[in-house]
Amino acid sequence: MGLRAGLTGLPGTVSAMPDSLPSLRELLATAVAAVGGAERPGQVEMAEAVHASIRTGDHLAVQAGTGTGKSLAYLVPAIRHAVANGKSVVISTATIALQRQLVDRDLPRLAKALAKPLKRTPTFAILKGRRNYLCLHRLDGPKDEPDDQVLFDPFAVSRMGREVGRLRDWASDTEVGDRDELVPGVSDQAWRQVSVSARECLGVSRCPIGTDCFAEKAKAEAGKSDVVVTNHALLAIDALGTAQVLPEHDVVIIDEAHDLVDRVTSVATGELSATAVAVAARRAGKLITDEVADRLVEAGEGLAMLLSEAPAGRVDDLPEPVAVTLQAIRDAAHACVTAIGSERKDDPEAATARKLALSALEEVHDTAVRVLDAFGTEDAKLRDVVWVSGDINTAGPRPVSLRVAPLGVAGLLRERLFGENTTILTSATLTLGGTFDALAKQWGLPGKQRVGVKAEGTATDKEPSDDIRWTGMDVGSPFDHPRAGILYSARHLPPPGRDGLPPAYLEELRELVTAAGGRTLGLFSSMRAAKQATAELRDKVDVDILCQGDDSTALLVKKFAENPPTCLFGTLSLWQGVDVPGPSLTLVVMDRIPFPRPDDPLASARQRAVESRGGNGFLTVAATHAALLLAQGAGRLLRSMDDKGVVAVLDPRLATARYGGFLRASLPPFWPTTDPEVVRAALRRLAAAS
Ligand code: SF4
Repeated sequence: MGLRAGLTGLPGTVSAMPDSLPSLRELLATAVAAVGGAERPGQVEMAEAVHASIRTGDHLAVQAGTGTGKSLAYLVPAIRHAVANGKSVVISTATIALQRQLVDRDLPRLAKALAKPLKRTPTFAILKGRRNYLCLHRLDGPKDEPDDQVLFDPFAVSRMGREVGRLRDWASDTEVGDRDELVPGVSDQAWRQVSVSARECLGVSRCPIGTDCFAEKAKAEAGKSDVVVTNHALLAIDALGTAQVLPEHDVVIIDEAHDLVDRVTSVATGELSATAVAVAARRAGKLITDEVADRLVEAGEGLAMLLSEAPAGRVDDLPEPVAVTLQAIRDAAHACVTAIGSERKDDPEAATARKLALSALEEVHDTAVRVLDAFGTEDAKLRDVVWVSGDINTAGPRPVSLRVAPLGVAGLLRERLFGENTTILTSATLTLGGTFDALAKQWGLPGKQRVGVKAEGTATDKEPSDDIRWTGMDVGSPFDHPRAGILYSARHLPPPGRDGLPPAYLEELRELVTAAGGRTLGLFSSMRAAKQATAELRDKVDVDILCQGDDSTALLVKKFAENPPTCLFGTLSLWQGVDVPGPSLTLVVMDRIPFPRPDDPLASARQRAVESRGGNGFLTVAATHAALLLAQGAGRLLRSMDDKGVVAVLDPRLATARYGGFLRASLPPFWPTTDPEVVRAALRRLAAAS
């Protein structure tokens, strides 16, 4: 059933020795029976491929549609390998929801079911970055003064006070100190007062509370577990850093792998703001003379002034005044570090203040150096992209800052992930336009692949592919897409405009929502468009329209799932995070093809870099980005075997543009149409039948 492609290179072997454990098929059958399911061909095929990949050391990219049972398909061979070899297997996810599913549901059931055949109970643990755990030492130690934004807002000050109070109460109850267990959550500002980054931590040997430390306990637990569940961010920190943060392992399984590049990029992104400089200066000021600390304060004020006048967007050439200010920040931060001096036998309180100051100073110093270096040579410009960010998000305006991010993470992943572990990547969306090429390139995997064709590697001399072998495999989906779903491209509509949704789009949306009797997930390319559609349709249709931002997203999704004659409109997080099986969701509408914004600094720099090498920047970057999101959005429609419905894309370019074929080939194989009346009739039939 599955389609495969392979590349050749030097063989690698992780575990080719026979062992006395039951076969993979026996263990999988036991696991499937224990969770009350039936064996599915795609699941068996995937489990065997994962098992083979672990045994041979070849990397594997496996696309497995919703309903395949892919978590079992990788967990069973992973557990078998860990038990046979006594080494941890790392499983990385992008979302908390999947982490929870693995740790709270799948792994406990599997551990119980496999204990007998494996002759011991497999163990598992969850591990996140240090910042995710409550730091008991910081809880009682020095707190940062609130930054200016909070200081001048009395409501924010009292809210933060209340939140820190709640954190204290929670600290005496929690057994794991994991921020995600705190419901409802607290603001980032409050959490920062009771947590530390890896740089800020005193180190377990110096910390007076080291033996009770939540982060250390989680790390110790992970170190002796067969399966360690983590997130892409920690995986990236482990790959980027010099210190090992994950336990010893030789196999990494990356679920939700379509998100890997974005997550790794954000971990590798540096940010320099006037606020960060002020915090570093304030922390240093408590330990050194005013004269030295004031140099940093002044340099930070200079940055604040320059950034307040700078237009948001990519910086191609660093203006002289900015370069001078960054040099001043770099030198002043260095002077503060020197003035603080080398390590002394401080009391714990003083050691904490020192560590907090040093880590903030180093952060500011290193980012200033990185931004300056990015303009050093033409080559450097191809490594790092710098931009002024002042984006407005739903939580309010962000302070303006300078950001620096890698143009790509392929080299890093190739060297530090694929070069050091057998890696299995999986997701419902890994092929775009029908092949693994686009994502493989972003991951740093060599060669040109065509799904279904066994191909020799065709890596260029820039890609040291000779020691990397990988296989791409699509195990398909249990859904009958052409029978269960319609892909409707609204060919007759005008192209999308710059100023909100055109009237024709709103009218089309009204007709579709009316025909479906609600039951619509509206995925919009901007919050502005989602709000415009909500305001417009609330007056014109008889069903409730929920809009992202009206309440917590989780609560809105719950209301939407419980009341079929309801619509939920929103933007990016809904494109990937909504799982509503059943008749509450029969229509997914997307307003436009989700290309990156033309002023997106990273996407535009990446596009330009591809073009400078003679490639097609638009297809490689913008169309790939859009295809991935479209496929994720369309994937919201069918969530269970009985689901039926329509994916409607209002943007006519899906049907008319040259790249439309590539985008359509990235979507599940629904029955395609451009006829609105056919679609409305189908929606009316579905509404009547449910
Ligand atoms: S070792 Fe101490 S300082 Fe570090 S995170 Fe744990 S409690 Fe905090």
